[in-house]
Amino acid sequence: MPLLVTRGLTARYGDFQALFGVDVVLEAGETVAIIGANGAGKTTLMRSIAGVLPNAPGEILFDGEPIGALASAKVMARGIAMVPEGRKLFPSLSVEENLLMGSYGRKAAGAWSLDTVYELFPILKERRGSPGTALSGGQQQMVAIGRALMSNPRVLLCDEISLGLAPVVIRDIYAAFPKIKAAGASLVIVEQDISQAMKVADRVYCMMEGRVTLSGRPAELDRQRIHAAYFGAA
Ligand code: ATP
Repeated sequence: MPLLVTRGLTARYGDFQALFGVDVVLEAGETVAIIGANGAGKTTLMRSIAGVLPNAPGEILFDGEPIGALASAKVMARGIAMVPEGRKLFPSLSVEENLLMGSYGRKAAGAWSLDTVYELFPILKERRGSPGTALSGGQQQMVAIGRALMSNPRVLLCDEISLGLAPVVIRDIYAAFPKIKAAGASLVIVEQDISQAMKVADRVYCMMEGRVTLSGRPAELDRQRIHAAYFGAA
């Protein structure tokens, strides 16, 4: 049984329909990448899974159980954590306080604690007393990832963690992913950088205008098909 499944998932913002029947599967231990242009619906998909958007027609199954009607705190308690687009740190809190916010309400025991997050990103230990907003963009992203890990998730949803970061910083952050997986999390990453997505993902879904237009393993997908699925037919 897959770990996470969306079936016919739809989502709306008022009158505007942002998702039209999205089917996505995440097997335990996998990294799945969601790619697509601005406005394709990637963030909406993440927010729907995380319970941030109100319930809409369609199904979300986690470990075989429907979670589509649960509020975000309950989804998180089940084991799905999100690293939101734009990091969304608490500006008045220190690095350490931001990390601790991630463990609030957690139910699952697991690998992640302040100590293990500091082992994963040693710079955060050095900066632990600084306000999150005093950090560089890459360090802020590390705090956002660490904060999500503090709930000991079985699924980590990462929304555009590369956005606005220098290549060397992106490399450092992605270098942490094998350790995150080894600690037991499966990953869904939203990534606008197609070659980065192809490098790290076991399977890729491409979205356009609220629909999945292509999916498969990176080795099965050639550039031309991705281009058509990403931008529409030329
Ligand atoms: P981006 O890379 O820009 O984040 P995305 O693929 O994540 O793009 P979404 O953010 O999911 O796309 O947006 C999908 C569609 O829903 C877009 O047309 C967007 O304008 C619209 N949308 C997103 N958030 C809202 C909102 N709060 N209210 C109304 N429309 C929204």
